Amino acid sequence: MESSVRTAILVIDMVNDFVTGVIACDRAQRIIPNQARLLDAARRIGAPVVYVGDAHLPTDFELKIWGEHAMRGTAGADIIPELPTQPGDYILEKRTYDAFYETGLDMLLRKLDISTVCITGLHTNMCDRHTAASALFRGYEIVVPDDCVDAFTEEEHLDGLDYLRRVYGAEITRADALIDASSSESSLVR
Ligand code: ZN
Repeated sequence: MESSVRTAILVIDMVNDFVTGVIACDRAQRIIPNQARLLDAARRIGAPVVYVGDAHLPTDFELKIWGEHAMRGTAGADIIPELPTQPGDYILEKRTYDAFYETGLDMLLRKLDISTVCITGLHTNMCDRHTAASALFRGYEIVVPDDCVDAFTEEEHLDGLDYLRRVYGAEITRADALIDASSSESSLVR
């Protein structure tokens, strides 16, 4: 059981505007069932589930690039109904691509004695990538189930995965591999 609490699952930007709203990503539909199964497995063994979604203020630099999206306090910034939070989950807000930047995520993970982050959500080549960089710089191991992350296009998704593996040393795996490990070893990662 000891290793089961060393991995946290991050759920990045699975909020309405990213999935069905103003910057909708149709390919997100592919990953939602895989994430749902993985989150259930994590909760079953007591691995923390941490949602970090955009909640922008009007002055945020990203709005110049993407237009208004996931504005704080609007339905666009709400977590999608297909991945409802459960009691015991953690919910943080971010204002940049990086889930660690001024969000309190690092302090939370350290308090929970986490050594590995399992990154899921959108997009493989943007927020997932920036979050992975930030995790690496802070000393975390990185695991990425490739059927729980996606991007606007297949090319961007594959480029993102390749970058995560080559540059950040991320272990690229599948949701079912992590779920199988959780049932046999009470751990999401070996
Ligand atoms: Zn944003």
